[in-house]
Amino acid sequence: MNTRRLLLLAALAGLILAYFVLDLGRFLSLDYFKSQQQAIEAWRAEQPLKAALAFFVAYVLVTGLSLPGAAVMTLVGGAAFGLFWGLVLVSFASSLGATLAFLASRFLLRDWVQKRFGDRLRAINAGIDKEGGWYLFTLRLVPVFPFFVINLLMGLTPLKTRTFYWVSQLGMLAGTLVYVNAGTQLAKIDSLAGILSPGLLGSFVLLGIFPLIAKKVVDALAARKVYARWQKPARFDRNMVVIGAGSAGLVTAYIAAAVKAKVTLVERHKLGGDCLNTGCVPSKALIRSAKLLSHIQRSQEFGIRDAKAEFDFAEVMERVQRIIKTVEPHDSIERYTGLGVEVIEGSAKIVSPWEVEIVANSGESVRLRTRSIVIATGGRPFVPPLPGLAEVGYLTSDTVWNLRELPRRLLVLGGGPIGCELTQAFARFGAQVTQVQQGPRIMVREDPEVSELVVQRFRAEGIAVLLNHHAKAFVVDHGEKILIAEHQGQEVRIPFDALLVAVGRVANLSGYGLEELGIAAERTVATNEFLQTTYPNIYAAGDVAGPFQFTHTAAHQAWYAAVNALFDPFRKFRADYSVIPWSTFVEPEVARVGINETEARERKIPYEVTVYGLDDLDRAIADGEAHGFIKVLTVPGKDRILGVTIVGEHGGDLIAEYVLAMRHGIGLNKILGTIHIYPTLAEANKYVAGNWKKAHAPQRLLAWVGRFHAWRRG
Ligand SMILES: Cc1cc2nc3c(=O)[nH]c(=O)nc-3n(C[C@H](O)[C@H](O)[C@H](O)COP(=O)(O)OP(=O)(O)OC[C@H]3O[C@@H](n4cnc5c(N)ncnc54)[C@H](O)[C@@H]3O)c2cc1C
Repeated sequence: MNTRRLLLLAALAGLILAYFVLDLGRFLSLDYFKSQQQAIEAWRAEQPLKAALAFFVAYVLVTGLSLPGAAVMTLVGGAAFGLFWGLVLVSFASSLGATLAFLASRFLLRDWVQKRFGDRLRAINAGIDKEGGWYLFTLRLVPVFPFFVINLLMGLTPLKTRTFYWVSQLGMLAGTLVYVNAGTQLAKIDSLAGILSPGLLGSFVLLGIFPLIAKKVVDALAARKVYARWQKPARFDRNMVVIGAGSAGLVTAYIAAAVKAKVTLVERHKLGGDCLNTGCVPSKALIRSAKLLSHIQRSQEFGIRDAKAEFDFAEVMERVQRIIKTVEPHDSIERYTGLGVEVIEGSAKIVSPWEVEIVANSGESVRLRTRSIVIATGGRPFVPPLPGLAEVGYLTSDTVWNLRELPRRLLVLGGGPIGCELTQAFARFGAQVTQVQQGPRIMVREDPEVSELVVQRFRAEGIAVLLNHHAKAFVVDHGEKILIAEHQGQEVRIPFDALLVAVGRVANLSGYGLEELGIAAERTVATNEFLQTTYPNIYAAGDVAGPFQFTHTAAHQAWYAAVNALFDPFRKFRADYSVIPWSTFVEPEVARVGINETEARERKIPYEVTVYGLDDLDRAIADGEAHGFIKVLTVPGKDRILGVTIVGEHGGDLIAEYVLAMRHGIGLNKILGTIHIYPTLAEANKYVAGNWKKAHAPQRLLAWVGRFHAWRRG
């Protein structure tokens, strides 16, 4: 740090120290003002200029040094100088003080912060360059963050000083007016009647509701700003156009039609989207056949000496297609048309905030004017840019369903839920499966022991699970396809016949107008808590909006998107993500709701753990599935559930009881007090609650009860 900086730092530190050491803060209180009110008023009457100057300088010092007391001083400004002069003085003094604090933070810290965190700040810097003034204006108008924090943080950004000054002055004007006005009323209190006077009460009501009004103003201004370059149609053809007929789009359209809105649903490929055609439904159908085979292989465990399965993989895959066909009517054009939804098979593109252009598969095109739009365009498998990938050829969760011949050696790249489910299923059909995972464990969202249990099972079933293997490239060597990976600094070559890439999914963000309209999207379409995008009448739901990638969360978001899109501004709801369950359908099934231990530790949430081993459960023993566990996290000393992980047979079904409990605030005591049918897997839920109860038994009371019984025995 150079000398000038050091000197400034020393001066500032000295002043701040003096403030605290001399306890100058006592002068910045309403009590002090009240005690001195008469003297201050007399001084102001005698020497108005001097009094105003002294107040101005004091205000600039307090705000420039970021000392506490600006709010009180604003009230005092109103009380001492009245509404007009109080407003003028406070407005200029606060803007000047804020600018001094801004400059001090810039001079002392900006270079260092930008040097140190420049990479991470790049996006913020670009945003400030482009929209800094507007951003500051909203922060000033809606006082969510303390005044001094905004001054100091803005000093670290590239925002121009001039802009900072005038935007601050303008943005703070309304808030200052409300405070100064409240101050003028404070000056008048000298009795209980004064406290209850309409003027004072009105001022304080205004003080309370100002942030809400300011938020509405900011929202309205922001909306005006985004819509500025568009011409709003005078009339609309539709209440809503939904783009994409996957889980999110179908549910959105369903709800819209149910509440009698005129809605058009556009789908460019197949109704039902990923879940029906290439996701949940086919994968679960495949897993079912694979599970049957695994049971046949385990027949001796069940007392059956010899059970053989003869099968043709192509027939298994045909069954998968039949299952899709059976479920298809739930998501069909006929059903949705019957419900009152207009369904168009074709490609949709947003061309203005209120217009969607649809090119139907028939070749016809139509432009619909709509009050609201819901983007439900889903996602697709992510294919990493690895050298040689195109040459060796690869399958994804989109294309694997076309296979009719079982690959002899299947390489699965990726250890997430989709990779794991398909790994186990293909291995059970007899493919030699190698699963390659970059990190130290598979299913990384779950606790380490969960990953470990699944890996153990995979390995026991003959799957080669290669952890910490970093895929580098693919080659074809003498006609053999090979993955070149790096493992502990060594090159590893893994031969295979077919490759399944399952390293995650990305949202569909291009080709339908997001870029042209400037709808913010990075990994997913950016939405607020109401699922509104940059344009408040355009919403997004499902995989394209994230952060979850499940059918049930897509449907959950769809409800909010539909209701908010149709009823805003009269009523809108924040999407509630407080209790989100999910399951990975490997064997043993892994299901979760709420937090696990890893997350609790990361987020520093205090918790207690209660575990029940399913090897103890009568039904699991009878079924030959006595493995896995239920782990419940609770608030220390209380039965309130923070999260549950189940690893075991039908975990995805068993978790439902905890989802209900968490959603409705039911604790373990109530689960324990509920009758569960014997012998079922669901009894495990009661037993884990019993374990919790035993650990929390009131030992002292029990000791007394023991004495009571001893006394009764005589
Ligand atoms: C193998 C696999 C297994 C899965 N298993 C499960 C599971 O067991 N449980 C679970 O909850 N989830 C599972 N999922 C995830 C689930 O499938 C998705 O979360 C869900 O499908 C997301 O629904 P969506 O409506 O957001 O998107 P999608 O289902 O992808 O639908 C989006 C639709 O939009 C259409 N579209 C896109 N752009 C346009 C346009 N411009 N015009 C017209 N139409 C357009 C697409 O054609 C598509 O049909 C699985 C996924 C995969 C891949």
